[in-house]
Amino acid sequence: MGPCRFDQLTPELQAIATDKFTFQNWAKTFKCTPELLFEPTTEEQVQKAVLLAKSLNKPLKAFGCGHSPSDLACSPGFMINIDKMDNLLSVDVKTCRATVQAGMSLHKLHKVLRENGLALSNLGSISDQSVAGVMATASHGTGAEYGCLSTMIVDLTLITADGSILFCSPTENVNVFEAARCSLGALGIITRMTLQAEPDFRLEAIQKPYKFSDVLNDWDNVIHSAQHARVWWYPHTDDCVVWRANRTTKEISRTGPSFLMERFYGFHTYQAMLNVTRYSTRLIPYLTKLMFNTLHSQPVNMVDVSNKVFNFDCLFPQYVNEWAIDWKDAPDALRKLDKFINENDLKVHFPVEIRFVDQDDVWLSPAYGRKTCYIGVIMYRPYGKPVPYKKYWKAYEDIMREYNGRPHWAKAHGQTRKDLEASYPKFNEFLRVRQQLDPTGMFLNDYLRRHVISPGKETASRL
Ligand SMILES: Cc1cc2nc3c(=O)[nH]c(=O)nc-3n(C[C@H](O)[C@H](O)[C@H](O)COP(=O)(O)OP(=O)(O)OC[C@H]3O[C@@H](n4cnc5c(N)ncnc54)[C@H](O)[C@@H]3O)c2cc1C
Repeated sequence: MGPCRFDQLTPELQAIATDKFTFQNWAKTFKCTPELLFEPTTEEQVQKAVLLAKSLNKPLKAFGCGHSPSDLACSPGFMINIDKMDNLLSVDVKTCRATVQAGMSLHKLHKVLRENGLALSNLGSISDQSVAGVMATASHGTGAEYGCLSTMIVDLTLITADGSILFCSPTENVNVFEAARCSLGALGIITRMTLQAEPDFRLEAIQKPYKFSDVLNDWDNVIHSAQHARVWWYPHTDDCVVWRANRTTKEISRTGPSFLMERFYGFHTYQAMLNVTRYSTRLIPYLTKLMFNTLHSQPVNMVDVSNKVFNFDCLFPQYVNEWAIDWKDAPDALRKLDKFINENDLKVHFPVEIRFVDQDDVWLSPAYGRKTCYIGVIMYRPYGKPVPYKKYWKAYEDIMREYNGRPHWAKAHGQTRKDLEASYPKFNEFLRVRQQLDPTGMFLNDYLRRHVISPGKETASRL
């Protein structure tokens, strides 16, 4: 089957299609040029795009805002983006539930929820992503008693490979619901979701420096020391910062380093210095210590509406890797990582970000069936001369595997179907639902074939 040309489309499809589009993810690590991009505004238009792909036997891949650091959302065939389907459909303030079109961004979701006195109970570091995108990868925030974002889904609707509209919930099309709460985009185009929120709230966040060894020795208490706790460890040092946030009725306020200081020093000066360390990596530990002393010598205290406290600036371009392990194993795993870095004279950038997620029953959630600690490592990714990070990544992934680690689906990793089958009890049930809904593989792409579908050999991490 040759490429499908724009001028072969019906006028109806031409109105929502373009053949001049290159998709690139946020980190600029992957890109692809699909034959056609569809940007529907209605479910009927989504159905038409699906039926066209079906009739021409073309792959059709949905993407949200392209924030996945891997090639999870890429496809050389047809692509579809439902950003224009971003309306609030209904809200029930009594049950704190809202039904939205799945192309809505999290930023807009916060706004429409707040207008109705509601807010999401937990969030990750940013809110640029689409609702469909965060749910497709079981994106997460932090909080011992709070599950990943997919646990907030009450019901959802998707357009499947035969063009039909399928509603699913815990009581209707139950297996599809369980699979589609974290679907990797492999089951169909998700067009709407009902989400469980809670009454709008403010958070008070307090950020304080600690000795990392003390935190590891007092692990359980640290995890439970706030509704939402996270740790940033500065490798090459025994320093870390613990961020704790709790619901509050206090007035909006902020103390600690000024925004200017954080922005100027924490971003521009730090980035300039990181550039210098590209030519002399032995300076990295000194830079880490300097940044810790400058930015974290005094506690930071902030009260604001919940989403503003949950979200952070993700400042500079970076390579990221993030896996989930049982939180009781995390101190051992982190000590091993520290040992590897020191014994192998690796020079790595900070921070290592450590977050906690309650166990859930979402089939493909990395927190399925166990209380989870996400450990995220980063390396600065300058333009031009690359920084060496692969030895760090390999050691990190090997340690995560020792603890039956599950990689964040959105991030590049080296797990194969065999590994994933072994660590997800419901993995094969997910594959059965996928096969039923999409027997010809319309929604598959290289990422899914490489990691999820092919029985194949171990794959190297793609970054
Ligand atoms: C700066 C930054 C900060 C981040 N912070 C966090 C964090 O704190 N916690 C965390 O867990 N993750 C985090 N992530 C990862 C991010 O949440 C995920 O990559 C998320 O999937 C991105 O959503 P998106 O809308 O960009 O989706 P995309 O990356 O565009 O797509 C992701 C997946 O969703 C599928 N998809 C998109 N739309 C649909 C649809 N309508 N129907 C079916 N499938 C669909 C795609 O096919 C793909 O499989 C971060 C990423 C970045 C770049």
